[in-house]
Amino acid sequence: MTQMDDELWYWSVNAQTAPYLPVFRVRDTESSHGRYAKGIKQIHGIDLVRFHGHPCDGLFRGMYAMSLALQSIFPDGVVDRTDLRFLSRNSPCLGDVGAYLTGGRVRFGTQDVLNRPGVWYIVQRISTGQTVEVTEQEGFFSKEIMDLESRLPTLSGDEQAQGVSELKQMQDEWLNTHLFPSRPEEHYTVREIEWDWLDVPYDNKGKRTDVLYKNVPPGGE
Ligand SMILES: [Zn+2]
Repeated sequence: MTQMDDELWYWSVNAQTAPYLPVFRVRDTESSHGRYAKGIKQIHGIDLVRFHGHPCDGLFRGMYAMSLALQSIFPDGVVDRTDLRFLSRNSPCLGDVGAYLTGGRVRFGTQDVLNRPGVWYIVQRISTGQTVEVTEQEGFFSKEIMDLESRLPTLSGDEQAQGVSELKQMQDEWLNTHLFPSRPEEHYTVREIEWDWLDVPYDNKGKRTDVLYKNVPPGGE
């Protein structure tokens, strides 16, 4: 580990001390052809940052939204990452958070996108069909930030440089003043829905083989 890693330069003090940042408890299989693992793992915000690449507003908003969806499907608090599929907008940030926390992936036909604006997820438990939709409250996220995000591609040169810096500052500020001080249930709502999962149109899809033997009874040890 390098010194830069030690310093966690990518994990702000505000994120470190955010009082309501969800911690996820997940269950997986224990091997490529294994049964369910007996133990559970904890996933923290920083794990998602390491996977996704940066601690953006979308990552934290996705965590907040997903925490309610998963709590609703798994009231005992342990998320079965072998049994979920999900939809989101095709945002790098929301899609990554969803894939990491649910185990859903396009290449196994368990992740797909819909062209609907905003922060939302549809999460379905494959074995039961139970489906929830979680959405962010309209108006919670800053309109100024959204405006600048959509203006950025039209800017060039110094204006664009300034826009990129400003946007990052505005996003961080919004997290510190709006998201981190609030609990997920204050600005995100979850509800059960009926949902027919459509086959994911990806030609190279394959079978997820590391969950096939998850229910094999103990024996042979
Ligand atoms: Zn991001």
